[in-house]
Amino acid sequence: MPDTDTATVVACPSRSAATAGRDFAVSEGWVHSTETFGTTDGPGIRYILFLSGCPLRCQYCHNPDTWHRKDGTLIAVEDILADIAKYRHFFARGRGGVTLSGGEPLVQPKFCQAILRGCKEMGLHTALDTSGYLGKQADDALLDDVDLVLLDIKAASGRKYRSLTGVPIDPTIRFAERLAHRDQPVWLRYVLVPGLTDSLDDIEAMATFAATLGNVERVDVLPFHQMGEHKWRELGLPYRLAGTPTPTPEMVVRARETFRAAGLLVS
Ligand code: SF4
Repeated sequence: MPDTDTATVVACPSRSAATAGRDFAVSEGWVHSTETFGTTDGPGIRYILFLSGCPLRCQYCHNPDTWHRKDGTLIAVEDILADIAKYRHFFARGRGGVTLSGGEPLVQPKFCQAILRGCKEMGLHTALDTSGYLGKQADDALLDDVDLVLLDIKAASGRKYRSLTGVPIDPTIRFAERLAHRDQPVWLRYVLVPGLTDSLDDIEAMATFAATLGNVERVDVLPFHQMGEHKWRELGLPYRLAGTPTPTPEMVVRARETFRAAGLLVS
C-alpha cells in the first residue's frame, strides 16, 4: 500500500463566497489536474477533479503520471470548492456535477470527504470514479455524499485482475457488494483490451457478477486505446501493451451485447 491520506488540517484564513458561513476546518490534498467540461465521467457536464496517487499499476493505465500522490499539487479544499462554485449553475442547468477521479481518489479519503461535503452543500450531483481497491477507506459518511459510483472493475477473475493491476481483486469485490448492500447507484466500467479482457468467458463472468448486484444502473464498455503510451515513455516506464491494437467494432459490440444479455443497461 502506498502513501495514505494525511489530509493536513489547516485553519481557514479567508472564506470565499462558496464557503462563507460554513464552520469547518479545511483540509488540503494532492491534485493532479482539473477539467471543467467533462462529459464522460458521469451524467451531464461535469467538473472533474483528478487526484494524484494510486496503488494499482494497470498495464493499460492512461495516466501513469498520477500514480504518486506527491507528483500532484497540494491544494486547499476551500480553493477547490471556490473554483467549483464558479461553474455550479452551469453544471446544475445541464444536470451535471462534480466527479472525483484520479489516480485513485480513495488514496485521500478525508480530502475526498471534504470536497464531497462541500459539493453537496452547493446542491451539486457528485460521482466517485474508483477502482474500488481502497473502498474500505470510504466510510459511510463519505459514501452518503456520493450520488453515483463509477466502479472500474478491471477483470472478472482474481488471477487476471492481479496480473493486470498488480493487486488482488477481493477488496474491489467486497466494495462492490457493500455498495449493493447500500443500494448505492453504480455505473460499472469495463475496459476492453484485446488479448487481456476480451474473452467471452471473462465478459460473461463480469456481466453475471454485475447483474447479481442489483444496483448497477449502467455499464460502460471502454475500448482500450494507446493515448497514454507517450506518458509511459516520458516516465521511463516499461510499457507492455505497445503492440496491442484497439478493439475492433465487432469486439466492442459483442462485449456490449454480453452485458445486455445479462439484463444490464449498456451505454
Ligand atoms: S486504477 Fe486507474 S490510475 Fe490507477 S493504475 Fe489503474 S488505470 Fe491507472
